[in-house]
Amino acid sequence: MNSLVFSHPEPQRPRSRIWPVFIPFAGCPGRCVFCAQHIQTGCAQTGLDTVLKKVEADLERALELGRGPYELAFFGGTFTALPEEYPSRFLALSDKFRKLGLIIKTRCSTRPDRVTIPMLKELGAQGLDMVELGAQSLDNKALKESGRGYSGDDVHTACDAVRAAGLELGVQLMPGLPGDHDDVFQKDVRAVCNIKPDNTRLYPCLVLRGTELEKWWREDRYEPWTLARTIRELTLGVAALWKAGIPVIRMGVAPEEDLAPEIVAGPWHPALGQSVRARVLLKHVQEQVRQLGRAPERLGVPFRHSGEIFGHARELLGDYARLGLDRESIRMVDKKRFTLS
Ligand code: SF4
Repeated sequence: MNSLVFSHPEPQRPRSRIWPVFIPFAGCPGRCVFCAQHIQTGCAQTGLDTVLKKVEADLERALELGRGPYELAFFGGTFTALPEEYPSRFLALSDKFRKLGLIIKTRCSTRPDRVTIPMLKELGAQGLDMVELGAQSLDNKALKESGRGYSGDDVHTACDAVRAAGLELGVQLMPGLPGDHDDVFQKDVRAVCNIKPDNTRLYPCLVLRGTELEKWWREDRYEPWTLARTIRELTLGVAALWKAGIPVIRMGVAPEEDLAPEIVAGPWHPALGQSVRARVLLKHVQEQVRQLGRAPERLGVPFRHSGEIFGHARELLGDYARLGLDRESIRMVDKKRFTLS
């Protein structure tokens, strides 16, 4: 009897612990219509000197306790547009702890229209390793109607600049923006597959309390994606990104305690990532079954994937049963790869 051995479809990536430093709205030219960083990050808007002092004290403490190593990550604002001396001061702090072995890498998020090659080279020389660009989309209509202030071409130019400066590149997309039309997200995914960043984050657009988008939603000028559509589109998108060898390091905003009551509308689910990952894996198994060319009898699942195979709340049991793989014929195995026989 023929059998197949195959790997999980997710590209391999180095895993490290991230130490996030939130700088809500710092350096931003305005507030984007969907953005409520103080809610999304669970951090109040604070002066940068206070942030610097707190991070230094927290890192000292982590060092004393023998924790780490970590990647230091500056999120929630526009790092490359911080007032002049702050990027250097943050990077000097990171460098101090890199020399002590606590920090192994430094990354930041920023806007595509706030980077240039000389500036990025300078920041790279000061210890910055990766830039995550909050592109959100490369579609001109969606970018315009969302008031982002740059074009799809600007996103390409920014990605090129990060690469030309010798830094690693991350790209963040936001499916379901105002101005969404046709097949925008899947087109964005195809564009990102061509850009080939080192990683991506996918944050479906939510309506958060106090944002301009909440006003638009209440005036019937904006309709968020449904959860069903979001899961469907993300499944297609993640499958394409994984196939292109691009890791997806985050799907949906983190389930911060204070976040749920602030989501007025939109496709939020605490297990969104798990649900989508499991569906992409299911698609992969379906493809293997087609290649097998007959009804399967047994699926061996590596232990490390046992928690995800059936999806959130075992929602995919029925899909596997329809493939001919009922619960009894799916076994967890002490192997690195899947086996289908
Ligand atoms: S989306 Fe980015 S640029 Fe816009 S306000 Fe939020 S953090 Fe600032």
